[in-house]
Amino acid sequence: MPVGRVNDRGGYGGSSGYFGLSIGRTIAHQMRPRLNGNFKPEPQHANNCPLLRCFVMPRGVTPRRPARSGRQDRVARAPIRQAQSKLLAAKRPRGRDQTVPKAQATRRAYNPIAPERVAGILKRLDELYPDVTCALTHATAWELLVATILSAQSTDVNVNRVTPELFRKYPTVEAFAALTPEQLEPDIRSTGFFRNKSKSVVGAAKKIVADFGGQVPMNMNDLLTLPGVARKTANVVLGTWFKIADGVVVDTHVTRISRRLELTTESDPKDIEQDLMRIIPHEKWILFAHQIIWHGRKLCYARNPKCIDCPLENLCHAADKTWSTVEVHKHAKA
Ligand code: SF4
Repeated sequence: MPVGRVNDRGGYGGSSGYFGLSIGRTIAHQMRPRLNGNFKPEPQHANNCPLLRCFVMPRGVTPRRPARSGRQDRVARAPIRQAQSKLLAAKRPRGRDQTVPKAQATRRAYNPIAPERVAGILKRLDELYPDVTCALTHATAWELLVATILSAQSTDVNVNRVTPELFRKYPTVEAFAALTPEQLEPDIRSTGFFRNKSKSVVGAAKKIVADFGGQVPMNMNDLLTLPGVARKTANVVLGTWFKIADGVVVDTHVTRISRRLELTTESDPKDIEQDLMRIIPHEKWILFAHQIIWHGRKLCYARNPKCIDCPLENLCHAADKTWSTVEVHKHAKA
């Protein structure tokens, strides 16, 4: 393009843009007196015509000449950039204490007793075991109390084999109260630990007849005064027969599965119960224990649990799982 011609960017072509600009400024300088200060170009003319652009340019503001060295010193940063960088700096965490390593942040994010995780476990238990109750055969509060005492260190199936004949032979609490422990022993022998269990059943019957008018008491404190009755047995009777949720039944299944599911890290049943009472909604205390006991019988065995069939699998990080799609936690075990 010849020197002095306007190119499509509104500048002068040729080897030196500055040379063309000088010509424009000279022409504008010569035209200034003739226009007599009354010339007001239309904005579109000023934009399209390089000559007029020079002409309307405010005094003291001239296009900057590029440095011969190529350095662009004293070039002010665009105001918009400054504003953006200030904004970014404000968002950035200041100081080392505010930066959280990624691994640490992930570790902190996992909370095994977070309400949403516990709610997920309860929901799946509801779907799996919607309507379960105590598996011990019984017709009265007293029969349930006897069956629960006999179920210690035994299975419900084993107890259910013994109790129908036992309750036919001794149909009331008074009939049991009239026995000596030795007389009862042969009838309950197959349930194991029969000497201790015999003492507990006969002692409980005598106390109920003597102190509670032959009626099984309906509150935790009175139940705990009976021989052979601890919180687990009392919770079974209160929850299953009287529908009173005074606590959570903690038996061998509840202990094992609560630890596997990281609902507790305790091993003492009293402490496990306290942990469960803190995280399980009160209205679920009775049903939750039944569901976990059934889960222990059906899938979550003490040895070789059937994790591959377990609907809780992806919520469970138990170290002794037999199959897993999630990371296992070495502290989460029975
Ligand atoms: S995944 Fe396995 S260990 Fe975990 S609750 Fe289910 S059966 Fe038990």
